[in-house]
Amino acid sequence: MIKNIIFDMGNVILDYKPEKMTRCYTDDEEAVKILTHELFSNKEWILLDEGLIDESQAYKGICKRIPERLYPLCAEILMTWHEHFLPIESTYPVVKELKDRGYKLYTLTNAAERFRVYYLNNPAFELMDGFVVSAEEKLLKPDRRIYQVLLDRYNLKAEECFFIDDSAANIEGAAKLGIRGLVFDGDPTKILDAVASLE
Ligand SMILES: [Mg+2]
Repeated sequence: MIKNIIFDMGNVILDYKPEKMTRCYTDDEEAVKILTHELFSNKEWILLDEGLIDESQAYKGICKRIPERLYPLCAEILMTWHEHFLPIESTYPVVKELKDRGYKLYTLTNAAERFRVYYLNNPAFELMDGFVVSAEEKLLKPDRRIYQVLLDRYNLKAEECFFIDDSAANIEGAAKLGIRGLVFDGDPTKILDAVASLE
């Protein structure tokens, strides 16, 4: 019997589209290309998610690879990108429906410490019973230890959990601990169908 639903954040609850976010700051095509790649698709982003560096260290590292004219924009995006990290509108009603049906809800996210700055701006997170944030654990999905942190912290049984993530690798990571799940494809009604099929 499923009692707990675990949600990934990026591209499940919030719309994580780095290029779209960078475009909120500039229409200089070269700047968009460079900053999108160097901020969001390079080693510092992963190290931030892993909690191994802070934003000033990330800024210094990124600046080694970008033109000097982009330093101010780089700093601005690094500190404010989350203002453009917006909800996927169709997910919230499904989260609310599951909450109303009595499921406990959790978020398990690969995210930097900045998560604590922006997460309460989203109503879906107000419905959550708990959070595990990679930077705070110094562990990234799909490392099995981060799923174990969630199970241990909230005293959950793997077989009573259902996990939703847009990454197949993360769903496979959870499966290794006996947590069933769904690779999210953007259609939240499939979450309800999948949970109903397990009842
Ligand atoms: Mg995701």
